[in-house]
Order: sequence, then C-alpha cells, then structure tokens
Amino acid sequence: MIACLGRIVQDTDAGSIPDDDVSTISQSLDLQGTIESGGIQGVADKDFGGIYSFKPLALIKPSGTEDIARVVKAASRTSHLTVAARGNGHSINGQAMADGGLVIDMRSTEESHFKLLRIGGSSYIDVSGGALWEDVLKRCVSMFRLAPRSWTDYLGLTVGGTLSNAGVSGQAFRYGPQTSNVTELEVVTGKGEITVCSETQNSELFFGALGGLGQFGIITRARVKLQPAPDMVRWIRLVYSEFEEFTRDAEFLVTRGEGESFDYVEGFVFSNSDDPINGWPSVPLDPDHEFNPAHIPQTAGSVLYCLEVALHYHHSDHTSTVDSAVIGLLERLGFVRRLRFQVNVSYTEFLLRVKRVEEHARANGIWDSPHPWLNIFVSKSCIVDFDRTVLREMLKDGVGGPMLIYPLLRSKWDDRTSVVLPEGEIFYIVALLRCVPKGPSVEKLVAQNHEIVQWCNKEGLDFKLYLPHYQSKEDWKRHFGNQWSRFVERKFNFDPMAILAPGQKIFKRSN
Ligand code: FAD
Repeated sequence: MIACLGRIVQDTDAGSIPDDDVSTISQSLDLQGTIESGGIQGVADKDFGGIYSFKPLALIKPSGTEDIARVVKAASRTSHLTVAARGNGHSINGQAMADGGLVIDMRSTEESHFKLLRIGGSSYIDVSGGALWEDVLKRCVSMFRLAPRSWTDYLGLTVGGTLSNAGVSGQAFRYGPQTSNVTELEVVTGKGEITVCSETQNSELFFGALGGLGQFGIITRARVKLQPAPDMVRWIRLVYSEFEEFTRDAEFLVTRGEGESFDYVEGFVFSNSDDPINGWPSVPLDPDHEFNPAHIPQTAGSVLYCLEVALHYHHSDHTSTVDSAVIGLLERLGFVRRLRFQVNVSYTEFLLRVKRVEEHARANGIWDSPHPWLNIFVSKSCIVDFDRTVLREMLKDGVGGPMLIYPLLRSKWDDRTSVVLPEGEIFYIVALLRCVPKGPSVEKLVAQNHEIVQWCNKEGLDFKLYLPHYQSKEDWKRHFGNQWSRFVERKFNFDPMAILAPGQKIFKRSN
C-alpha cells in the first residue's frame, strides 16, 4: 500500500456537521469561493445526456484546491454527504451529479494554473483540472506555438473530466489517450488530502485517478505533454462500401510509424440513404462539394463507411509537398475513388470542428435535447460480427447523429491506469452519438442501447463500455473483471468513506 505524503488541510473543527443544513456547512467551510443552495437548478442537476436529474444540497464554486479539500473534509465529518466534481457536465448518465450532496463546479478553478515548463528538452503545460481543453488549445497555440498531442473530438470538456475517463480522438493511435499524455497530477483525495502524484511519486494515486471515474480524488492540476503546433491541416474523408476494406485500411494507417501515416485517423458509418443527418449529406466537408450517390458501388449494402484522416503541415511547406505526401498515402488505400472529400483548414479550426456543430445545434435548439449515447470498445476479433448485426441491421437507419468507429492500439494505453480495455492489440471505439427530441423516444433509444449491450454479452463479444454506466455492483465487477480488486483497493486507500463521484454508482457512502 502506498502512503499518501500530501499536505492535509487542517480541521478548524473536528466535530461532526449536520447533513442538510447548508448554513452550518457553509460556516464550517470558511471558503474563499462561494456556496449556493438556491437557484442552482439547471446547472448541478443537469448533464449533456438529459436523461437523469438529481438535486444536490448545494453547489460550491471553489476558488482553488484548498477550498476543494475543505469541502471534502467537511463532507467526511457528516454522516451521509457525498461530493461530486462537476467538470462541464458533459456526462450522459448523471455521473457528475450528487443526489442530496455537494457538487463542486470545477470550472470556477479554471484560472488556477497555467504555466509552461521545459523539462529535459520537452515542453509541458500545468493546467487546472477545471480548464476546458478548448482554452488550453487556444492559449498554448497563441502564446507558445505549442499544443497537447492527444485530444477529444469536442473540446468543451474539462481536463479533469476527460482524464477521469481516458480522452480519445484521432491522435490516440499514435500518442495514446489523454491519460497517456500527462506526467503529474495534483489531486484532492476522498480524505481531503492534497497530493501531488506522478509515475514515480504516489504512483498508485496517479494511475488510479487516470481513468478512475473520479473515484479516488479530484484532479485539480494536470501536467500535459506538449509538441510544436502545426499551422494547417489537410482534412480528408474517404468513402468505402465494404467493411473489410475500411477496417483493413484504417488498421494499416494506425499501425504505421510517425511520418509514414496521417496525423489523425478516425472513421464513421452512415446510412446508405439521402437522409440529411444519417445519410450521404453528412459526409462532404464543405457545402460546395456534393455527395454523388451515382458513384456508390452496386454491391453496397444498407450502410457505408467513411475513413476520416488528416495531415498536419506548416505555412512554409509547399503545396506540392503536401499533395505528394497525401497522394503517397491515398494510393495505397481502397476507398471509392470518386467519393473523396477534402479541405484545408487551420490547425485550431480543425481541432475546434465540433464547436461549429455545437453552434449550429444550439441555433436549432437541439444541443439541449437528450443524448442517450453509447460508447463501446470492441476487440478487433469481434468487430466484423458487431458490424454485421449492430451496424448493418439494428442501426442501419442511423442514430440521429454520428456513429463513429475507428481502431486504437492497446500498447499506447498504460495498463496501470484504471481504464479497462478488451484483449488484443487492436480494438475499435464505437460511439453512437444519438440526438433525439424529448419524449418517449428517449426511453426507446435507451432500451436499444441495452439491447446492443445484451447482444454483445449473449454472443460473448470481447468488449468494454467506454464512459461506462451501470446500476449494480455486479455489473461494475463484470466491467472491471480481473482489475476489480485493484479498483476496490484504490478506493479503500484514497476514498475509504466513498464520498467522491457518487453519480457513478459504484460504491455506497459509508459513515
Ligand atoms: P463531467 O461530465 O462533468 O464529469 C465526468 C466525471 O468525472 C464525473 O464522475 C465527475 O464527477 C468526474 N470529474 C469531473 N471533473 C473531475 C476532476 N477534476 N477530477 C476528478 N473527477 C472529475 N470523450 C472522448 O474520450 N472523446 C471524445 O471525442 C469525446 N467527445 C465528446 C463530445 C461531446 C459533445 C460530449 C458531450 C462528450 C464527449 N466525450 C468525449 C465524453 C467526455 O470525455 C466525458 O463527457 C467526460 O466526462 C468529460 O466531460 P466533463 O469535463 O464535462 O466531465
């Protein structure tokens, strides 16, 4: 067992505190920030999923790490209170909520840290756990011409929120998920201890917190690896009618070394129809470029596949150099030649591409609609079966939003973190990014998600849920498999009273 050597916030009053009296709690906390109990609806009791709503006792806007430690300490002196760190509330199933507990708005700490470090010839940025990745991007690029190496598709997410899961996008095949791209964390444990941890210092907490679903501590600072930022990106979409060719090419690209492949590799499946959201019109990258269905091969089935790739370059690179690098890679791929789409965009525009989708969805009033998403990691050995039954049959008409599918490499993930993965070097992330109007259809779609997971279980597929959500301990045990005992031991060491992240529904608060 690794001892925590962190500072401990001193108790001003070691006596017990009532569970439900906000003013007594507030007095005992002596915060630099604020605590609110009225008018907090719509913030702490809502998330992007729009499926669950749990009302907290109070919402806390801490001014920094010391405040967060005080809140956790105070909760530990009550009989029932729990504490949920809320990143940007972009969970789907209430994971950042605390029913009757204390919700900490991590965004209020976003300015706490922002410092460039150069260690042994490499660059790092220290950022707050409550910072949004989009702000990290903008500040790193504009101030230092540097950028983190591994991203999520959408950057309106917090550093602490994605590191508590994994943080995956089209760079992960090369650099691993975001959890593989941080070297140090500052964490407030479930005992209220402020602890700095890394691979060599308090390593059990470091690896536990990465992918730890917020169970072992609240990440207040992260040290993120940086690399020189490119100026531009050539962003390309290539259409396939055959799944085998799509997966062969995607796997070819993700297993080649740096300089021999694209800098970003993702993919998605779409309905072979003219449906504006789920079908052909969802593929072109600019409005001047039409998807001409006459080019679809006769042999195509109910769905088509799109490989999405991108190559970084600099203003100083000649267009012909970029062209020949792209042609050299594309000529080895088996996509439908006449169904290729491309644009050149700035690096930040590329990384902020989902922000444009958000702006559009907000303007149409659908960003706040329910999002019963399902994210699964499926082993390469099972992906053909998954495609045949789930993608081509159950979901052939689409899900009202993107259906991502692309390969990742297990060797780029550190198995000392709390994330669990399927077996084998290559596995696929499948993300069903559903968007539906409020109403009975939400339940139907949640039921369809269950049906898909049940089918995977029944057929014995090797898979793990990403951004997992289970109701029973038995399901969590199955999810973690042979990592369950390590997860429980970490809980016992760092949050023995199960105060943190109650919305994950893994452990029950004890006295
Ligand atoms: P929240 O939802 O607020 O919190 C998530 C969990 O982490 C909760 O249990 C919470 O208590 C805990 N938590 C929050 N902050 C901290 C902290 N500082 N320390 C410890 N625990 C904390 N994921 C990907 O990997 N790749 C993607 O491309 C991607 N795209 C997305 C696009 C959209 C539009 C959305 C809505 C989500 C996407 N996600 C993606 C999922 C995202 O990684 C999760 O929603 C994640 O939870 C981050 O969201 P958040 O910062 O709002 O955290």
